[in-house]
Amino acid sequence: MPIKTWLTETLGIRVPIVQGGMQWVGVAELASAVSNAGGLGILTALTQPSPDALRKEIQRCKQMTSKPFGVNITLLPSMTLKPGDYALYAQAIIDEGVKVVETAGNNPGPVIKQLKEAGVTVIHKCTSIRHALSAQKLGVDCLSIDGFEAAGHVGEADVGTLILLAKAKKVLTIPFIASGGMADGRSVAAALALGAVGANMGTRFMCTAESPIHHDIKLQIVKGTENDTALMLRSFKNTARIYKNKIADQVTAIEKRGGAEFKDVAALVSGARGKTVYEAGDSEAGVWSSGQSMALIDDVPTCEAMLAKIEGEVEQIIGGLGSLVVPAASARL
Ligand code: NAD
Repeated sequence: MPIKTWLTETLGIRVPIVQGGMQWVGVAELASAVSNAGGLGILTALTQPSPDALRKEIQRCKQMTSKPFGVNITLLPSMTLKPGDYALYAQAIIDEGVKVVETAGNNPGPVIKQLKEAGVTVIHKCTSIRHALSAQKLGVDCLSIDGFEAAGHVGEADVGTLILLAKAKKVLTIPFIASGGMADGRSVAAALALGAVGANMGTRFMCTAESPIHHDIKLQIVKGTENDTALMLRSFKNTARIYKNKIADQVTAIEKRGGAEFKDVAALVSGARGKTVYEAGDSEAGVWSSGQSMALIDDVPTCEAMLAKIEGEVEQIIGGLGSLVVPAASARL
């Protein structure tokens, strides 16, 4: 029996699961595979070197799926982008007729306005209730509530998904999906119980057959546990959760010394260097994002097999929970 939520109905997808925006990972091969499997695939805008390259990637994705897919734009400190670049990427998305965008990061107001004026459905990802309320005021359609377990930029407040979702249900008036720690049917069922209309998954999709990263990195994720991540860029208030490797140790050691400037770590943390991890399959070549959900990942399935499995698990878990509620007369005191 299909799971029906605001997300499936509004986006026209079968499974209430969105593939998170992931630098160097969110390309047409993966996004189309997720959409073809019934979820919402997401291209990462900034993985493309220019707005024109993004236009071509959107066109390529359209050739690979007839199902809806979205694009992620993340607005965070960058070594390569100028502030005006985001509007140009957003315009490329609008011009290519993409109907859903995942925004994330700092000062998203202008990009959200640009997308909403063009009739795009906006899912804004944020790591705090304060930012969720601001985005709601800016007119986004849905929030992606990103707990501390997540990969990538986790914010500075260190609040886990469990608390954030329950609080979101209390204070938000628009729908929200769960992000951070989502990797199997059990986590998705829990998110739905907490009031979410679906889940966002990043690390889980990195570790699928269609994910464009080197197989050895997928095996590293399979081996990884909840203790194999590190937090970098804390001292610059731009905290990111990454895989705990030697480069992560070097960066955190520099930050711990105190008084570090960004230029002291720039060469170590650069995305261009991180990209070589995925290309060469050398997990020590640079920094790369990974969430605590590695603990729950033990295979490299196709997106189709993975989403079908999660769908079945969610159904079974939600159905099973119903049997815990017994008529008052037969309940034991
Ligand atoms: P990059 O090489 O420009 O920067 C590498 C890291 O350093 C990023 O975490 C970035 O936020 C951080 N950084 C850059 N300048 C900084 C500064 N002055 N102070 C503090 N931190 C700084 O990044 P990239 O890997 O090429 O990615 C490009 C952009 O996409 C960045 O803004 C990055 O944060 C963002 N991003 C997006 C996703 C996604 O899933 N969409 C994932 C990771 C990063």
